Amino acid sequence: MKEIHILDKKFREYLTEKVIQQRIEELALQMNKELAGKEVVFLGILNGAFLFAADLFRRIEFPARISFVKLASYQGTSSSGSIKELIGWNEDIKDKAIVVIEDIVDTGNTLERIIGELVIRKAAEVRIASLLYKPLAYTKNIPLDYIGFEIPNDFVVGFGLDYDGFGRNLPSVYTLIN
Ligand code: 5GP
Repeated sequence: MKEIHILDKKFREYLTEKVIQQRIEELALQMNKELAGKEVVFLGILNGAFLFAADLFRRIEFPARISFVKLASYQGTSSSGSIKELIGWNEDIKDKAIVVIEDIVDTGNTLERIIGELVIRKAAEVRIASLLYKPLAYTKNIPLDYIGFEIPNDFVVGFGLDYDGFGRNLPSVYTLIN
């Protein structure tokens, strides 16, 4: 398996580009079946979800909107636990079916915060799509509707996810070795 360096850390390839793209295709197929006919707004969570959102959304075959908000809780390789930024929300959410697009669900704090906002904004229904999910770290009861991959509780980069700002452009997902 391929190994790479980002800044002071070493990472090993964990999910290849091919595997990721195949899974996104499956998720899009499922959404095309389940969501066609609804008034859907996809809501990508920046920065990490931008590639997943793009690759997923281009495979959506019914008329739909996409918008992005920014909500960041991470610095370096450990969760700070506090959410720092919330910007965006220029799309009308009221009475729409919202599909939140996350890069990764870890503790679920970010997700809980976003869902709170969607409830305030009177979304008709909310579904959650996340490329990656760390079940061992998850502390919430919010059900996740479209999961790309369940992964162990290790730090990952690539396909939108960063280490100190780097690695987002990698087409595969890499896991931290040391
Ligand atoms: P949560 O609020 O669920 O604890 O964390 C969600 C956010 O933390 C993600 O959107 C992502 O930005 C960041 N995050 C969580 N785990 C990882 C990881 O393994 N690698 C990277 N790069 N970011 C992570």
